[in-house]
Amino acid sequence: MGEYADLIVDGSICQMCGTPFEHAAGYPQTCRECGSWNPQQIKAERRQLAAEQFDAAQRLADLHGLVLRRCTESHYQLSLHNGWLQNIYPGNCRLYWDRQHEKPPWLHLPDNWSLLDVVRAAVEEIKKGSPCQFRNPAATAANP
Ligand SMILES: [Zn+2]
Repeated sequence: MGEYADLIVDGSICQMCGTPFEHAAGYPQTCRECGSWNPQQIKAERRQLAAEQFDAAQRLADLHGLVLRRCTESHYQLSLHNGWLQNIYPGNCRLYWDRQHEKPPWLHLPDNWSLLDVVRAAVEEIKKGSPCQFRNPAATAANP
């Protein structure tokens, strides 16, 4: 037992799961997987996941008349053509709607949603007909 504890103390292995590190840090370390309780790391991993899901999420959105845009690596926008606009921040798991636009439908999301979950939830609302009340100013202007 003493030896295992020493390996943890000098940072040779992860203090949570025992995965060996390439270099002993000289102090206790936590591996990437176990370190996911770290808020900064969670944020980084959520952003990474969003980046990985972006292409699939964009295709899904496109199929249902939605537009998914990547504004920055931490900020995405999902909008219905000329309708509502939902700002998505996967890093800190926040959604903000833009007051310049119509209010998006309520999205039923799991606690730790991902970018793809948001698009899926919006698609569900579209199937239910929630965004029916959306106005299309361009169409109205074109056909007075
Ligand atoms: Zn670990």
